Amino acid sequence: MDGPGIPVLMYHALLAQPAPGTSPVHIAAQLFEQQMAWLHAQGYEAITVTDMHRQLTTSQLNQKNIAITFDDGYRSLVARAAPALKKYGFTATLFLATGFVGLPKFIGAFANAVPPDDRPLTWAEVRELQAAGWDIQAHSRTHRLHAALPAAELRSELTESKQLIAEQLDSSVQFYAFPYGNYNRHVLQALVNAGYQAGFSVHSGLANTAHDLRRLPRIEMNTGCDLHIFAKLVRTGYPSAAAAYRARLRDALFYFPGIKDVLQSIFKRFIN
Ligand SMILES: [Zn+2]
Repeated sequence: MDGPGIPVLMYHALLAQPAPGTSPVHIAAQLFEQQMAWLHAQGYEAITVTDMHRQLTTSQLNQKNIAITFDDGYRSLVARAAPALKKYGFTATLFLATGFVGLPKFIGAFANAVPPDDRPLTWAEVRELQAAGWDIQAHSRTHRLHAALPAAELRSELTESKQLIAEQLDSSVQFYAFPYGNYNRHVLQALVNAGYQAGFSVHSGLANTAHDLRRLPRIEMNTGCDLHIFAKLVRTGYPSAAAAYRARLRDALFYFPGIKDVLQSIFKRFIN
């Protein structure tokens, strides 16, 4: 799956300060701003995942495009991400977990992984992002590991999140990001059955036409992504040559999703 492609960056919440004890996927707003400034200086233009899908399916990739995505739906996106993006004329995509929208705080097992001083977006705030040009797509209802769900619950995660966003925003919801990047072949089939055009994993690498549209790669942004690492990730999809090599082996092994399922059952853990 090597060769040129479009980087799809995966962000979560943006913090006022890096917080010890909080997951490293929540980065400081200041680091995010530095990354956006770097992209702008390098001549990148941000596109939504809808734009990117169009490029992939027509085999017309623009190498200076980048997709900036945010998972879950934190209030800090309105407060910190949107102003930084606006400064550079960048758009973004939000993969929204609909079950938390409007709640005073995140709930369930997922709540342990979120920054303590952030909260879920309200629908009014999601509409604000949409009005600013953001693409709002789905990221489940309750944010549970999908490979472990019974068929009916898996279906409801995929279809109810899709319908609710479409109703609330009067928009088309065609793309899905798997919570924790977790999937198996049943999840991939359910994604197609629910009418999605493409799904997003957390496999690293650049997205190109060689990829399975049901599990496109995304690059995880975390507190370790200083500008040096960030530049490597944007240009190659990997933080190092060794990471790229390991990813090539994994892509070859997981070419048939059934092989991934067998490995998961043997090792009794999720492999992403
Ligand atoms: Zn998530």
